[in-house]
Amino acid sequence: MSEHLSGTPCRCALHARRLFTSGLLAGAASLALGREGVDVGRQSSFSKLVSADQIEQAAAAQYKQMRQQAAQQKALAGDDHPQLIRLRAIAKRIIPHTYEWNERARNWSWEVSLLGSKELNAFCMPGGKIAFYYGILQQLQLNDDEVAMIMGHESAHALREHARERMGKTAATKIGAGVLSQMLGLGNTGQTVLGMGGELLTLKFSREDESEADLIGIELAARAGYDPHAGVTLWNKMAQASKGAPPQFMSTHPSGPTRIHDIEVNLPKVQPLYQRAERPAQRFGPPKPANSSGT
Ligand SMILES: [Zn+2]
Repeated sequence: MSEHLSGTPCRCALHARRLFTSGLLAGAASLALGREGVDVGRQSSFSKLVSADQIEQAAAAQYKQMRQQAAQQKALAGDDHPQLIRLRAIAKRIIPHTYEWNERARNWSWEVSLLGSKELNAFCMPGGKIAFYYGILQQLQLNDDEVAMIMGHESAHALREHARERMGKTAATKIGAGVLSQMLGLGNTGQTVLGMGGELLTLKFSREDESEADLIGIELAARAGYDPHAGVTLWNKMAQASKGAPPQFMSTHPSGPTRIHDIEVNLPKVQPLYQRAERPAQRFGPPKPANSSGT
């Protein structure tokens, strides 16, 4: 099978679909030959430099602290908040499809929080710790499909351990190449990683990581029964919103024509998954717009 991994296009019927890839990740080995859905490369070997356990522990601590701070500021939505109920319902549909991308996800204690902030932001920390800012739901008037796209995208960062990869790179730089050969038992790396826990909330991923998260995200959402075309409408809304002062999410997630084009090109790969997927029994809607009259 190695000829299929070499980057030479294979022309057999099984792999014919692959010839229509966007070229975005051209030459990258497919994760599993013949699987249905998007093609992304293998994970970076940098992710192995720090342990997944330590990253997930640091993330869990950071997430807990964030929730406590939000609660103190009366900015943490309670379990009965309609938009939090909505987010959790969507997450519940997506999570079972994440295991294929990372076996560890099966044992994560997934959490979903809603923060009362006008900022346009959302993230999923390592270990499945999801947060949405109210502002992104309200200002962009996101429908359920669009919420699922963001959740899929952010979950993909966690599943593909992009934070772990970035921290591995940072740890490698901080500790120095000379020590790397002795790092199999971790030792100092653990400390360095824990010291970087605070950076988990402000991580900026590479363009490659972003592309990977986009593709895995639309597949996760499609399998969960959400229309993958929402990937396009979502990023159009983002592009629209980023005119003027770019909010935080847009500075880490630039919404250019390339991003939208790459999603469009990949839609045919996930469309059959969406068509076969069980639809959500309940649909929710966005919060009332901030400038609307009434309650
Ligand atoms: Zn991202």
